[in-house]
Amino acid sequence: MSDASSAQTDERPAKPRPAPIPDHDSAPYWKALHEGRLLVQKCLDCNEFQLYPRDRCLACRGPVAFVEASGRGTIYSFTVIRQNYARPFRDWIPYVVALVDLEEGPRLMSNLVECDPDAVQVGMAVEARFEVVSDDAGIALFAPAK
Ligand SMILES: [Zn+2]
Repeated sequence: MSDASSAQTDERPAKPRPAPIPDHDSAPYWKALHEGRLLVQKCLDCNEFQLYPRDRCLACRGPVAFVEASGRGTIYSFTVIRQNYARPFRDWIPYVVALVDLEEGPRLMSNLVECDPDAVQVGMAVEARFEVVSDDAGIALFAPAK
């Protein structure tokens, strides 16, 4: 059982962010994020964009290829997390979980960084930031667009 007082007396060092486990379809996506590039999949038949990575196009079942995304998007929705006693999240409180609509179309769940949580607004323009989380994966975070 965890409560505020036990969390405050936990002297263990900060825990790293959970890392994804790349699989056959997603490995190129995570590797590109590791290198600071955000990819989306584009259908070679109907030109639809999609994420998360899949074997085929969701719209027409056609073949897909990874293409580099602009990294720009807008906040579709968000919530401010003010309670989370699990490491490493408790070290970030308050933090923002946001749904970001990428310019290319796919909607991505991520964290908003470099921003006062109380200043976040739906429709806010954001741009990608990158964080390495393992030897073979990075993740995309978002910050207010400059
Ligand atoms: Zn398609």
